[in-house]
Order: sequence, then structure tokens, then C-alpha cells
Amino acid sequence: MSAQQQVQSLLDFIDVSPSPWHAVKSVEARLADFQFVKLDETLKWDLQPGGRYYVIRDDSSIIIFVQGQKPLVETGFKIIGAHTDSPGLRIKPNAAVGMDGLLRLGVEVYGGPIIATFTDRDLSLAGRISYKDNHNSIVSTLVKFDRPLLRLPNLAIHMNRSVNEEGLKLHKQNELPLILSVLAEECLPQAYFAQLIQQQSGCDAERILSWDLAVYDTQKGVFWGAGNEFYANSQLDNLASCHAALQALLDNEVLENDNTLVCAFFDHEEIGSKSNKGADGSFLSDVLQRIAPASVNNREYFARALAKSFVISADMAHAYQPSFPLAYDPDHKVIMNKGPVIKVNSNQRYSTESLSQAMFIDWCEQAGVPYQKYSHRSDLACGSTIGPITSASLGIRSVDVGNPLWAMHSARESAGVLDHGYMIRVLKRYFGAPV
Ligand code: ZN
Repeated sequence: MSAQQQVQSLLDFIDVSPSPWHAVKSVEARLADFQFVKLDETLKWDLQPGGRYYVIRDDSSIIIFVQGQKPLVETGFKIIGAHTDSPGLRIKPNAAVGMDGLLRLGVEVYGGPIIATFTDRDLSLAGRISYKDNHNSIVSTLVKFDRPLLRLPNLAIHMNRSVNEEGLKLHKQNELPLILSVLAEECLPQAYFAQLIQQQSGCDAERILSWDLAVYDTQKGVFWGAGNEFYANSQLDNLASCHAALQALLDNEVLENDNTLVCAFFDHEEIGSKSNKGADGSFLSDVLQRIAPASVNNREYFARALAKSFVISADMAHAYQPSFPLAYDPDHKVIMNKGPVIKVNSNQRYSTESLSQAMFIDWCEQAGVPYQKYSHRSDLACGSTIGPITSASLGIRSVDVGNPLWAMHSARESAGVLDHGYMIRVLKRYFGAPV
């Protein structure tokens, strides 16, 4: 596949994955084409060498693995970690409120989005609802409104004269509720909203008990630039890395090699990863322990396997934007379409150290892929990733890498076409694809 085709595949993947729950569903659909078997955490696993498996925890985190033919103590686990969630707005439990002739939905800010980028966009809703089925069991299903349903209209400049000098500031409690409809007389806002969800999901409104609903932008992904060298979409951070890892894994040459390969895509990275399904929870370690063979010496065997293992933490990196030269360290400008970025931070906001860096560089060279190095400005607080968390909790060597991205945490992010192809190539090489 050319880089252009890979990016088209990524844009299609994001367009059907407007929430972390949908992203996991989309990943699962891809796995079906490659005979992966779904495992249930509540059941006993019978794993076979060469077997292809995946585990989903709470609908929005997924761990995919190929059980290697070679013993784990010889190969260790080759892991790629990424995250399924993106910052944005989430619908509150008692969301629907009628006021001044309008019906609005109350939202909470999830993670650290650039909130102003959500104004004047064709927003909608996607996520998961939990309800009681006909047998009175509690079950969940995904729901997604395809049409624009919601809006956060800007204040006209005539009422906000300083907006271009001071930037758009929105009060999180008072100014973020999203407009859903005109308020009809006699309308009970909560019942109206429940009815709307019933229409879309097919679930009886009275049976719906709760939900996890994310606000998303309905605009589809596009290529842009004079030579279509860039692309834009929502959630590139970090569905672009999930997609790259998946493309690297779902390749016959990779799937048939002897190593134990793992892709771990976690929810909740944007809010610190601390949850039952986050990277700072037990999910990855629970699954890795079950991949290791059960025997009396399992503990020692597992420790030896971990000592041989490696994690590539794949998350997006800050591309240089020439309008804002002072925002960057002048000696660490990361340029779009010049290759994957190795992220370095001596305070371990990124897990990279010199040896893991050198190993990644070696894989890049073997794959014929250019690479760049990033260091944040020394006088600015640096973001972090799941890299240090997984590396610390499992004791595995790790490197933080990612593709250059403009407008991280905007409702609309941009990246370079060539970089996506490069990242897939180097991840394939890491997973054992022949040079
Ligand atoms: Zn990220």
C-alpha cells in the first residue's frame, strides 16, 4: 500500500470511530479478517503457539496479541502501546436543560482539548448506552448519530470585541452547554433527550439506565495541501498511532514470524490513565501474565520474559509551525513528512533513554525510514504519554515515538501523509518483518 492509501485507510477508520468505544469496535472488525479469536477475561484461556487473539476490557481498551512460536524467555514480548481516547466534551448524566426557548445539553470537558475549536462546528454524539434487555440483564450497545445534532455557536464579534486580541475564552460551566433544539411547549427536556436516544439506538427509553456519550465533529477526514501532502481529521491523537500499529501487525509476513507480538490500545490516556482499563491499571500486566505459560515457575519465567521485552509507546508529536517559532526549541524543530519522531525528556515525561532510542534508530535504518528527535522547550511544561507508565509498572525498556502533528488536541488536527507510511514501515520492522 502507498502512503496515500494508508492515510485513506486511516481517515476511513477515524470516520467510523467517533468515540473510543467505536474505535475498539472498528479495530475488532479489522481483526476478524485475519482470524483473530476473542478471549473473555472471565474464562480460562487455551492459547496455542502461533494463535491470534484479542481481549477487550470495558468496550474501549483492547489488547491484541500473536502468541509466538518461540519461547517467551527467548524473545520477550514485543509491544506497541497507544490510546483510543481523545480530549473533547462529554455529555453529563442529567444533560438536557430547557431555558429561554432552547433545549441544551450540559457537557463536561474530557482531558485537555482546545475548547475554542469546538465552536461553530457540525457536532454530534457517539458512545455507549447501558440498558436492561428483555431478560432484565444489563447490557451495553453503541450509539452514534450520523447527522449534525449539536452546536456551540460563537458569540458575534460585536459582543466580543477583544476576541482577536485576547483569544476565545469559554467558561466551562456556563458557556459550553450545546444547543440541541428549540424548546417546544410542554417539552420535558430529559424525556425528550431519552426519546432521541431511543430513536437512534432502538433501545426502549424506559430501559436505558446510563450512558457514556462523547461529542464529535461530523466533518470527514480530508487530504489537503498543494500536493495533498497533508491530511486532517479529528482524533489523529491518537487513532493515527493505533492505526499505524494495527497496519504493522496485520501483515502476513509479520503475523507469521516467531515472536510474541502485542498491540495495546488504552482508553483514559487523556485523563491520566488511572482506571481499570487505562495504561496505569492492571489490564496489560493481567494479559501478559496469562500469555506466559502456566507452570510452577511462572513467576520467574514471567520476570525473565519481561526482562527481554520492549515497548514502543506510539503517540503523536508536535510538528513545527513556522508562525509560532518561539513555542519550540530552535534545535529540535520537527518537520512534517520528514519521518517519525523520537521524543526525549530527561525528566521521564517520555520513557525514552539512550539505548531504547538507539534501538529505534536501528529499526528505522533497517526499514529505510528517516527519523527526527524532539525535545520540548526547557521553559515549558512537557506533556506525557503511556510510555513512562507502562515502562514503570512492568519494568520493560521503552521508547516514546510518534508522528509530527499540528494543533494537538484541536477538534481538527493535521499531519503529514509520508509520515504515516514511514511509521507503519518501522513498526513492521520492529515486529519482525524482513528488511
Ligand atoms: Zn496522545
